[in-house]
Amino acid sequence: MSLTQPKKPWLVRMHHRMRTVSFAMVFSATCLHLAGKNFATGTWVFLVFLLLIYPHLQYGRSLRAADSIRAEMYNLQLDSVLLGIFVATIHFSDWLTFSVVMGTLSNNAANKGWRGIGEALLGLLAGIVVGIAVAGFTFSAHTDWPAMLVCMVGLGAYLLAMNNIGFSRNNQLRTVRKQLENRETELLGANETMRKNLAEIDQLQSQLREQANRDALTHLFNRRFLDTSLNRELARCAREGRPLSLLMLDVDHFKKYNDHYGHQAGDECLKRVAQILNASAKRASDLAARYGGEEFVLVLADTDAPTAMRLAEEVLLGIASLNMPHEMSRIGRVSVSIGSATSTQEAYRDVDSLLRAADQALYRAKHSGRNQQQMAPASPVQIGLGNLAAVDAVRLVWKMDYECGHPEIDEAHRELFEQANLLLTSALGGASDSVPMVTKMAETLIAQLERHFQEEEQIICAAGFPEAAKHAAAHRELIEQANRLVGRLGAKELDLAEFFRFLGHNVVVRHMLEMDRTFMPYLLAH
Ligand code: GH3
Ligand code: MG
Ligand code: MG
Repeated sequence: MSLTQPKKPWLVRMHHRMRTVSFAMVFSATCLHLAGKNFATGTWVFLVFLLLIYPHLQYGRSLRAADSIRAEMYNLQLDSVLLGIFVATIHFSDWLTFSVVMGTLSNNAANKGWRGIGEALLGLLAGIVVGIAVAGFTFSAHTDWPAMLVCMVGLGAYLLAMNNIGFSRNNQLRTVRKQLENRETELLGANETMRKNLAEIDQLQSQLREQANRDALTHLFNRRFLDTSLNRELARCAREGRPLSLLMLDVDHFKKYNDHYGHQAGDECLKRVAQILNASAKRASDLAARYGGEEFVLVLADTDAPTAMRLAEEVLLGIASLNMPHEMSRIGRVSVSIGSATSTQEAYRDVDSLLRAADQALYRAKHSGRNQQQMAPASPVQIGLGNLAAVDAVRLVWKMDYECGHPEIDEAHRELFEQANLLLTSALGGASDSVPMVTKMAETLIAQLERHFQEEEQIICAAGFPEAAKHAAAHRELIEQANRLVGRLGAKELDLAEFFRFLGHNVVVRHMLEMDRTFMPYLLAH
């Protein structure tokens, strides 16, 4: 059903119909009343015009008006005035007056309420005054029974018709209200569906955003997200004068893992490593990302170097606890190497230098035997000419003569040399506050030495070297000595040069080049 206004409004049509019929009844009653009485021709002209022609003129005017309802309300007012003139013209005939006044009042009441009754009374009064002014005042209230009868029937029919119209109008309104209620329910339902759809779209959008930032295999953040977040976080930490640490991880001997266990197993392995990394990103601001291939990055805002080292240690332990077999690696299980760097007010203030520093530290971790962490120096190593001379003076230089012929032992020795040299380079190039870091690097070196000693002991036992126990005791002695020295190094009681003298003299010259030579014949015999 259309709620817009129709071309011929119902009200205008209904009034036209009612007016035509009721005015015609009044005309016939008036004719009966005036028959045989001496009324002027002008009166008859007025009566014909008012009761037979005027209703149609009004109808035409209402239809042409821009606002026909408003025009119709004006017509009601005009009715009252003209019928007032009519009342005066027929000399206040009681039944005709009563019928016309009641009809006018009830019509106005139905359309405008109490205000309408007031306006109609005023209009009637004005009309009576005009009628008396034009035709003079004559009062002859008596109405003969034929006219009275028509008036009774006409007024009765008029009032019944009005009530009937009211009733059917109410019915229509009830139907419209019901339709509106149904429409409202439909709209509410549509609204709810739309709200649900919007929520779904929102959810899908955030899922898409999330997927665009995630790596499909490991579900860690991807490289693109890392790049933007790292830039932002680094800028924030720099602004607030707070450190930011970055851990770079690389799975050890992963190519061999893939070759041995297959690419699919390799993927599973990466997923599990990623889980450990994700679990290490505990704070909301921590960010674990896949940097590419089997390399990962952990960004730790507001985190200084010692805390980052502790976390890297946790990651190494976490990976060890997975205990994933890796037959092709020296330790027999999957491990990772970690390089870390910390951005401070003094060093690695931009993403590139921070990533490079972590990458170099990772390289050192790889070359120091893997399954370990290495930290970038507190500030980038800048070796001046003087320092370079000093480095060269104490640098441990590997010579072919040092090889014992056993590939694993030789490789471990070579890595120990490399690690010691890296420690030296870092320490000489490091800032004055880098003592804890140099100590940490020295500890890592000793841990590596200890691992090597254990492997060597297994090898010489297996080769049947009779002095294996004595050799092991020498190892223990060296480790204890080294730990004591590192302790003093940390307490700033010992010069780094002193520690290097120990490494060069006790570990390399006296042990590797003298004692280790004693078991060589047994290894070669195998
Ligand atoms: P290192 O200990 O020095 O890190 O040795 P590596 O073998 O781990 O290093 P390398 O860079 O030589 O090998 C990385 C391998 O990682 C090579 C590549 O096939 C494998 N790789 C990279 N991405 C994926 C991946 O998504 N799934 C699997 N299964 N393998 C991958
Ligand atoms: Mg790699
Ligand atoms: Mg690798």
